[in-house]
Amino acid sequence: MLQVYFHTFGCKANQYDTEVLRQAFADHGAAIVDDALAADVAVVNSCTVTATGEAKLRSFLRRLDRAHVETVVMGCAAAVDDGTIAGVPGVRAVVGGADVPAVLRAVGIAPRGGLPGLRRFSANARAWLKIQDGCDEHCTFCATTLARGANRSRPIPELVAEARMLARHHAEIVLTGVHIGTYGGETGAGSREPERRGPRSPERTTHHPPRSLGQLLETLVAAVPAVRFRLSSIEATEIDERIERLLVEAPRHLAAHIHAPLQSGSDRVLRRMGRHWYTAARYAARVERLAQRLPALGLGADVMVGFPGETSADHRATLTLIERLPFTYLHVFPYSARPGTAAPRLGESVPAAEARARAAELRALGAAKATAYRAAQRGRRADGVVCGRQGGRVEVLTEDYLPVYLGSDRWDGPQRLDVTVD
Ligand code: SF4
Repeated sequence: MLQVYFHTFGCKANQYDTEVLRQAFADHGAAIVDDALAADVAVVNSCTVTATGEAKLRSFLRRLDRAHVETVVMGCAAAVDDGTIAGVPGVRAVVGGADVPAVLRAVGIAPRGGLPGLRRFSANARAWLKIQDGCDEHCTFCATTLARGANRSRPIPELVAEARMLARHHAEIVLTGVHIGTYGGETGAGSREPERRGPRSPERTTHHPPRSLGQLLETLVAAVPAVRFRLSSIEATEIDERIERLLVEAPRHLAAHIHAPLQSGSDRVLRRMGRHWYTAARYAARVERLAQRLPALGLGADVMVGFPGETSADHRATLTLIERLPFTYLHVFPYSARPGTAAPRLGESVPAAEARARAAELRALGAAKATAYRAAQRGRRADGVVCGRQGGRVEVLTEDYLPVYLGSDRWDGPQRLDVTVD
């Protein structure tokens, strides 16, 4: 029996794609192994967001080769590979995107039958459900949109059926994708696809009228009421009235947690980034309104530092905005030039030491805000879902994205329980 090892770099969309592959391999009779050294072949799902991530990928592939394990590389870095990945010793095939039949064929398995929905998310106690892929925007720093192509939304009935299957094993389902706020809003599906398209392709949507994320959420909440849904990263200005109403009125069904990429608090930098759909003021108005209406709100943001042309005044604008808004955590990333993107051509690069100093300042601010939020919530009863084990304890995640730990890791109680934030 073929022994296959899987490894994923990158975001929740990639993790979901790996799960679909893992299920397809098992359905075709392969054994999935946790130890790479016991494998006949490794399937590595790659990410292209940062240059560091790609360097880590190549070093991981070389390690597998030294252990005499051949690899098939799939995912975003594979989709835009210029031959560098294909040239790493031990790489048997490079398959762009999440093309399940192509990955099966690359290891000598003839694909049979269609692709059923994901039945269980084996990599995590919570499940991810990918509702769309791709993005119609062109942020000047983003290589993901080059690798994943145009926005393609999965049909609502297919997503409901998959959510029902996942609900048999998971108390929480996180809706994920590349740009989920544009769910159902294709602006010409198929017009800009990645070089080698995956199985969940845009033609599926041409027979289903486009709908909105709010409509999808309402349908999922009604059809799968036992589950708590959570949104993964969503643009603040794409949270419409429907989504807001669910957040406020159905807190057991849609977690009070928004992770809204900010990237910069300077409108000048946002314009240079190509993020034309919001300004700092519009972003602030949207999240402030949500925070006013919700008794507790986990609010996170991605913030990029050192984007070409970012001045110290731009950086101060970002700091000032973040100080003012009710963030409960931040993800701070230094800018990384990616091949094929427009940002490197803008010039005015920020010295690395300056970018590091700005990142440190923002991370310190994010940590202080996280500490203050947790202190303010201490003693509150919260809606918890078991999400893993850590250091001999059970980790439970609250609706507003706070980890709470229970004393024993031998937990045979419910997957969902009320906890006290400590
Ligand atoms: S919105 Fe911008 S950063 Fe996000 S996937 Fe689309 S192009 Fe990339």
